[in-house]
Amino acid sequence: MIAKFTSRRAPIYDDIPDEKWNNWRWQLSHRLNTVEEIEKVFKLTDSERKALATQNLFRVDITPYFISLIDPDNPNDPIRKQVVPTATEMVPFTAMMEDSLAEDKHSPVPGLVHRYPDRVLMLVTTQCATYCRYCTRSRIVGDPSATFSRDEFEQQIEYLKNTPQVRDVLLSGGDPLVLAPKILEEILRRLREIPHIEIIRIGSRVPVFLPMRVTSELTEMLEKYHPLWLNIHVNHPNEISEELAEATDKLAKAGIPLGNQSVLMAGINDCSHIQRDLVQKLVRIRVRPYYLYQADLVEGAGHFRTPVAKGIEIIEALRGHTSGYAVPQFIVDAPGGGGKIPLQPNYLLSSSDHKIVLRNYEGYITTYEEPSEYQHHNPKTCAYCQNKRPEPGQSGIAGLLDGEQMFIKPEGFDLLHERGGIQHRLKDDAKWQPLGIGSGKSEKDS
Ligand SMILES: *Cc1c(COP(=O)(O)O)cnc(C)c1O
Repeated sequence: MIAKFTSRRAPIYDDIPDEKWNNWRWQLSHRLNTVEEIEKVFKLTDSERKALATQNLFRVDITPYFISLIDPDNPNDPIRKQVVPTATEMVPFTAMMEDSLAEDKHSPVPGLVHRYPDRVLMLVTTQCATYCRYCTRSRIVGDPSATFSRDEFEQQIEYLKNTPQVRDVLLSGGDPLVLAPKILEEILRRLREIPHIEIIRIGSRVPVFLPMRVTSELTEMLEKYHPLWLNIHVNHPNEISEELAEATDKLAKAGIPLGNQSVLMAGINDCSHIQRDLVQKLVRIRVRPYYLYQADLVEGAGHFRTPVAKGIEIIEALRGHTSGYAVPQFIVDAPGGGGKIPLQPNYLLSSSDHKIVLRNYEGYITTYEEPSEYQHHNPKTCAYCQNKRPEPGQSGIAGLLDGEQMFIKPEGFDLLHERGGIQHRLKDDAKWQPLGIGSGKSEKDS
């Protein structure tokens, strides 16, 4: 049984027949973006009016369905703040960047961001059903002239065909689910023709902005391209409506595992009680909270930023206090392009050579006695260690533990430390035994 949630329609839409209201094409073509249109739903503040009258602001467009979820009498409504611009968007801040995650630098071909060893982010459109004021990709999103061409799509497919380490493709944009159904299907079909692509993921806010888009035709099409995963984006419990619950039910019934990625934002969801309500409602509609992001250093979104400690506080309030399934990982996406870095409260208080001291969510402090005898895992007799896939130069800290290297050095380290001194034993590579415990290398390779 589907959980019961509310369904709302702003009074100006009272006379719209259901066939129109529930038609995603009607919703898209009746999006609101001007002072005059939005004022028919609620009275704008001076700051909002000023922003809407400004040229070159990040694109505004709000579906009639989504604007109906806003409380017209509350200028601080958490949904309103996500989609209605204010003059604070024009205020610059320290460390503000246009492309704070250095995505463009990581793009071997236009629209493909290859940051991690085994997976890529594939931007398939710059269009969305509604535009989030804090968009991390506002440098390209919203501009119909910046959308990806057929030629660029072919380049993306060509790169993926030639890059066998990629086993996971994450479709994003923009929002892949606003693409014409035939185009989306072609993308999925072309990806499925590449044998090394094991899973496809879609990142979409369409179920939230335009739940009527999740039709049976759409889910029947998506089902053909399993294994397919989908992450939605909900930031506040008020976004969880009857319509969204029906959309996630259809997607779940099509066998698509659902996750949620949200952004921690000042004045919207920077409260552990709001977050607890949000994650509990999400699991009721079969959506597993996946990531809670620290707001990026993106132009136009400085007023949404919270201290990082707020995210730690929220995880503290969730872990142990609610279902583990409802607890997302709190993530700082590294400025400059280092990728996602998870943060959480400390649960390890201390340790000795045979014991660790831990605390739980209640402040209960316990000890865990380590085994006194441990037969180390033997990579030489482990088929997985012997046949492991070579990491394409991104093995990182795990590579240190796995015996691939003994150290990682900052850029220029060797030059800086070249004092013309005597030969150090570490300089003689032949004398370094990579075979430490954990090394997968066999005796004959070394
Ligand atoms: C977020 C992201 C991914 C996916 O990361 P997961 O942690 O696997 O969900 C992949 N590529 C890029 C560039 C990303 O930003």
